Amino acid sequence: MIPYGKQSINRSDYHAIKSVLFSEWLTMGPMVKTFESEISRICGSENFVVSSGTAALHCAYAAIGIRPGDEIITTPITFIATQATAMHFGAKIKFADIDEKTGNIDPETVEKLINEKTKAITVVDFAGHPADLDSFRELCNRYNLILIEDASHSIGSLYKGRPIGSIADLTTFSFFPTKNITSGEGGAVSSSNPKLLDEARRFGRQGIVRDSTKFKSLTDDRWNYEVHEIGLNYRLPDILCALGVSQIKRINEFKKSREHIFEFYQENLSGISAIALPIKEGYADPMWHLYPIRVNYGLRNKLYQFLWSNEIRVQVNYIPAYFHPIFKQSEYIRGLCPKSEKFYDTEISLPIHPNLSSKDLKKIVKVVRKFFKN
Ligand SMILES: *Cc1c(COP(=O)(O)O)cnc(C)c1O
Repeated sequence: MIPYGKQSINRSDYHAIKSVLFSEWLTMGPMVKTFESEISRICGSENFVVSSGTAALHCAYAAIGIRPGDEIITTPITFIATQATAMHFGAKIKFADIDEKTGNIDPETVEKLINEKTKAITVVDFAGHPADLDSFRELCNRYNLILIEDASHSIGSLYKGRPIGSIADLTTFSFFPTKNITSGEGGAVSSSNPKLLDEARRFGRQGIVRDSTKFKSLTDDRWNYEVHEIGLNYRLPDILCALGVSQIKRINEFKKSREHIFEFYQENLSGISAIALPIKEGYADPMWHLYPIRVNYGLRNKLYQFLWSNEIRVQVNYIPAYFHPIFKQSEYIRGLCPKSEKFYDTEISLPIHPNLSSKDLKKIVKVVRKFFKN
């Protein structure tokens, strides 16, 4: 079986974890800071690590103080965590449609949904290709909104030469095994706004305030700390930070390898009229997390079956979020975001990860071509 996405682990990863295991600190130790400074070298911003990409999103929404009734505008073409973490604070989700070329949320459809309840726009860099961040920044400035970027797919990508993580008000990353780099489970929140970053971090660290100058009732005895707002334990242990540090050192190598696979597919799958290949906008230098193709209407399920029966694992990204029963179908009706629904009906993600061999790639192309009798 050829997996559609898989971690790339080497001996250095193994030794990194082993040395932490025999050190003083399994969690809350020095590896946390080391991982955070490595991440800031890639994303160009201060950040803190958390236990998952979902936790990162939860912290980001906590930082902007979402209250019941607030509205978040986002894309349906994403993993449910993008919405679920805002819904935990009672936010109402408004779905904007996508630009079919990239699979990313479209600024024009977003603007129509903005009203006095809107608090934030959450964009997702689908497949690793950055959303049109300048347009969203401009919208957020005009309507006084917060820009959150779910960059679970796109650590290592650039937008107009600037690293992802340095542009939105808050950016969140995931280090799940299939993502661009992994710490097993893990995530991070970055921001160049120190106040927002502090708020987000405090939420992920049990709401604890240790700076005695900020104390409201206690004295500055060494053991004292205060809690002003509740938070959660979203720490990432040193054992996993060590894996993250070892992985992030290879991020350029991983990016090149993903680029190489992207180019291989672009060259070898071109000319099949029933397939639309992914495109790259001029402003984007993506670290490709997915290789999403779209096929003619009605062919996707058959191609999916055909690839699986040939021992090639593929994925469909994503079921539009509002298809899930948690979104009441009386309100989130079918047809709400027609381009997203069409994208879902015709999309299939081919395998892309650093361990794919050229033999694997040739096989995948051959099987796809065979399906289309091409
Ligand atoms: C993976 C992913 C998440 C969640 O990350 P976890 O680390 O699995 O919690 C959120 N949003 C998107 C777009 C993702 O792909």
